[in-house]
Amino acid sequence: MARARRAFEAWRHVSAADRGRLLRRLADGIDGRREQLARTEARNAGKPIADARGEMEMVAESFAYYAGAPERLTGKTIPVEGGVDMTFREPLGVCALIVPWNFPLVILSWKLAPALAAGNAAVVKPAELTPLSALALVDIAREAGLPDGLIEVVAGKGSVVGRRLVEHPDVAKVAFTGSTEVGRGIAAGAAQTIKRVTLELGGKSANVVFADADLSAAAAAAPMAVFGNAGQDCCARSRILVERPAVDDFLAAMRDVVRGLRVGDPLDEATQMGPLISAGQRETVAAFVPDDRHVAFRGSAPDGPGFWYPPTVLYPVDRHDRAVAEEIFGPVAAVLPFDTEAEAIALANDTIYGLSGSIWTRDGARALRMARAVEAGTLSVNSNTSVRVGTPFGGMKQSGIGRELGPDALEAYTEVKNVYFSTA
Ligand code: NAD
Repeated sequence: MARARRAFEAWRHVSAADRGRLLRRLADGIDGRREQLARTEARNAGKPIADARGEMEMVAESFAYYAGAPERLTGKTIPVEGGVDMTFREPLGVCALIVPWNFPLVILSWKLAPALAAGNAAVVKPAELTPLSALALVDIAREAGLPDGLIEVVAGKGSVVGRRLVEHPDVAKVAFTGSTEVGRGIAAGAAQTIKRVTLELGGKSANVVFADADLSAAAAAAPMAVFGNAGQDCCARSRILVERPAVDDFLAAMRDVVRGLRVGDPLDEATQMGPLISAGQRETVAAFVPDDRHVAFRGSAPDGPGFWYPPTVLYPVDRHDRAVAEEIFGPVAAVLPFDTEAEAIALANDTIYGLSGSIWTRDGARALRMARAVEAGTLSVNSNTSVRVGTPFGGMKQSGIGRELGPDALEAYTEVKNVYFSTA
């Protein structure tokens, strides 16, 4: 903390152009080590190497995007009587960045890039199971010429290291991604010293498919929107709501895709889904499906060592079943039929969460009505992708507070200062 604090005092006075230049060099450094970082991440988190490569591209892109930010962090002048009024976007200080194990480096980059661009220093707390890529990033930052102490990594337990950062008087802000349960404790802990907080928490997102949609496209895309990263994705569209007349065709098309998914060794180039992160996670996931009563179909999973769990689709299943109501964070999807647009909206919003979701229809007006009515921060229409470096990402309701990525993220790493200058 002391090193980060010192680094902050120097970094905030580095010119905006130089901060931008250094962040661009960091982006280039990451780009140059992409393959090595991807292999580290794939082996540490058990994710398919092809996915890990995509993530490392996004990590480099995040730093490149926010390299343009320091010179654009402008204030305002506001007309007032008797003088001039101006605003500044001041950095906060040392930010504690606490990240989960499912997308270790990519989620860190969403926080670190805007934090540094705005003139802050960072102390990073990676997840217990996946500290390796964050540690590698510090070396790359040093080689790129970023000052020592600007990015400190403290690996360790959330209940020890994470908690200390939340309580620490020298931490100005906590940016957290993780479970809603831990997020609640962080918000409460941060309140003691009125720290700024952004929270990216859990989800139980709906993928709403109307009968007039391109059903084969929707059914082809739905499996990886849940089973990507073995379902360990806060945006997993794990509740698939299908208009009743389309249910049978949709399930038939989805079954073929799910049975064809390549589940296996993360380092195999062809693998689409790897194992779960840990034995504990596999136990948690399995408890949501105690028997095969509601299982419509499953994909494959290798035998032998590894925390394997096959991609699993539940249908029919009661909307109040735990597997439908709670975040599973594993490769389990539930299909629920609906009869009207109003029922689709009610079902989609029937959750404490509000992170992400999709709407599939060929009716443009309905797509817009649905997009406004669904209580989620990050939606897509006729697509399941909603995370891009240049656009805001974050949750409504108990999925979180604040937005990452895009132009909005900088607001969460700056404070507006107002200065009145008398001309009398
Ligand atoms: P987690 O909440 O258990 O842990 C996240 C991080 O918080 C880890 O680094 C952990 O060590 C730390 N931590 C744990 N207890 C702490 C405490 N008392 N004080 C401070 N820090 C503490 O989450 P996880 O199991 O690593 O990740 C899975 C969860 O993350 C899921 O609920 C998922 O939906 C959520 N998630 C959300 C997003 C998003 O952007 N909204 C993205 C990825 C994951």
